[in-house]
Amino acid sequence: MYCPFCKAEETKVIDSRLVTDGDQIRRRRECISCGERFTTFETAELVIPRVIKSDGTRQPFDVEKLREGMLHSLQKRPVSIDRIDAAVHQIMHKLRATGEREIKTRHIGELVMTELKRLDPVAYVRFASVYRDFQDVDAFRAEIDSLRPAETGE
Ligand SMILES: [Zn+2]
Repeated sequence: MYCPFCKAEETKVIDSRLVTDGDQIRRRRECISCGERFTTFETAELVIPRVIKSDGTRQPFDVEKLREGMLHSLQKRPVSIDRIDAAVHQIMHKLRATGEREIKTRHIGELVMTELKRLDPVAYVRFASVYRDFQDVDAFRAEIDSLRPAETGE
């Protein structure tokens, strides 16, 4: 990075150490041109992206809302809360890993469907039927048919 004092391009790192339990790297730098010293901090950017709704408005990601949506689809299904929480955790992990600052609700819906498909076929169909807005009965039936091999496999 440029020297904040003289804007020279070349700076050298004279000290580097982990801080805040290893979550951050603190680097002491020295400008080769003017000799001034300054500090930089490096952290991994693991923010949850903001949500772009279908009407184009943005809102903060709400993990409780996500969890409630999944619980709703899983009502009276034989799936433990531990497995549901693990699925929520997995979705959060994928969202962070995108590195995107904003993400469409549609994309989040796809992630939820991927997890529900693994957890419980009935919950998956419940969620997908609301979410995917099936155009006709045939499309819906095709989706259910696609689940059958997985069902018998378990
Ligand atoms: Zn400088």
